[in-house]
Amino acid sequence: MCLSTYVSTMSLHIPFDNTYARLPSTAYTRLNPMPVKAPELIRFNAPLAADLGITEGTNADMALVFSGNQVPGGADPLAQAYAGHQFGGFSPQLGDGRANLLGEVLAPDGQRYDIQLKGSGPTPYSRRGDGRAWLGPVLREYVVSEAMHALGIPTSRALAAVKTGEPVYRETGALPGAVLTRVAASHIRVGTFQYFAARRDTTSLQALLEYTIARHYPDADGPTSFLKAVIARQAKLIASWMSVGFIHGVMNTDNTTISGETIDYGPCAYLDAYQPGKVFSSIDAQGRYAFDNQRNVIVWNMAQLATCLVLLMPDADKAVEDFTAAVHAMPDLIQSQWHAMMGRKIGIETATPEDEPLILDLLSRMADNRADFTNTLRALGTDKARDQFLDPKAFDAWEVDWKARIGSETGAEARMHSTNPAFIARNHQIEQMIQSAVAGDYAPMDRLLRVLARPFEDQPDSADLMRPPSPSEVVQATFCGT
Ligand code: AMP
Ligand code: MG
Repeated sequence: MCLSTYVSTMSLHIPFDNTYARLPSTAYTRLNPMPVKAPELIRFNAPLAADLGITEGTNADMALVFSGNQVPGGADPLAQAYAGHQFGGFSPQLGDGRANLLGEVLAPDGQRYDIQLKGSGPTPYSRRGDGRAWLGPVLREYVVSEAMHALGIPTSRALAAVKTGEPVYRETGALPGAVLTRVAASHIRVGTFQYFAARRDTTSLQALLEYTIARHYPDADGPTSFLKAVIARQAKLIASWMSVGFIHGVMNTDNTTISGETIDYGPCAYLDAYQPGKVFSSIDAQGRYAFDNQRNVIVWNMAQLATCLVLLMPDADKAVEDFTAAVHAMPDLIQSQWHAMMGRKIGIETATPEDEPLILDLLSRMADNRADFTNTLRALGTDKARDQFLDPKAFDAWEVDWKARIGSETGAEARMHSTNPAFIARNHQIEQMIQSAVAGDYAPMDRLLRVLARPFEDQPDSADLMRPPSPSEVVQATFCGT
């Protein structure tokens, strides 16, 4: 009674409308977040809350809810079950080992969104993990996901960050614990399908498919069109990442969404100097998730989804044939999306395959000359572009060809300005922001959030944030000890 009285007087109001909790109980374990010692609200994303129809509460109430200490009215907390290929090896049981889905909201825009706490304590899926997250990765995900959204790339978002007042132990020792409240179109992953497929539980698999189609692909009329639709969205997502120099770092099938959103920001980073083989993640020794390999790995991930769906088809041989064709079509889909995006970034409204050599030539000169990916593209058409190259003459030769090609394009300058960001969440700035936050200073985080919310605008006061890292600032590897 005490609890319900408290809930009804809570200033924060989240209009829950839950559907995942009505799936077969094989899909999750119902459980509440594990309370923490001394929750303290760090940041709350008021504009996002307003978009979701969430009424902001007092800081004290929000600290309670976004730490998991208080389950808000209407929530139906659960940990989702999923499986996944991690670095190519299959784990039949992963699942939310440190997350609770509080429930969903149906936003005023008509879209349904998950509200999930990440770092909210152990669950039956925790394996050897502690169920917690530390402040650094929580703030990294907060800032990088919000920046990704501002770039116009589908992504989960950050609604709140809370400090727990409890230490979390990682390779480097005791660190401040934190919880992120994450908003996503859903948290259904390729690995969610794999979970049931691995168990040959076709009843749950079919229920999951029907649920997912209704939620994300209402036009799909069965597994085949569903698969093609997921492939199309993921092709566009990966091309978008590559058009801004983003490396996800852990593209395991459990981190690949069915909705086509970017999710699970771990050891992710943006390229500074353009290096197609760049790897940031300290645990990716083989370079499986290197920048340029993302376009291959996603095809492999989609093949895993296809493998699951075969189980639901009456004629398996025919399904294998159709699905193989759909998966084999993906590299061309990615390539054409990428051409279109890279074309616009060099001023071409509708790039054709004939423009590929021009795009590739620029990239190869950038790679040879350690040119900064973001700053080179942003500076095209000004005399600053050549300054990005170790040997500026390498750029001059390309510029002659480029000018000849875009001579006939109208609006090239505006097109480039609106597709080449001036500001990305540079890894060294994220690291510096984390160090400040650990020391109690959140001003760098606020500044990054403010500037990265308008990445395509010139912001002369923040020109220092366009600067690539100095040699001593370069982050060598981003650890997965999240
Ligand atoms: P990730 O690498 O963050 O995508 O996580 C892979 C799997 O490990 C998921 O099942 C996570 O829930 C689980 N996991 C990661 N970190 C922890 C942790 N600290 N405690 C429990 N489970 C974790
Ligand atoms: Mg994950």
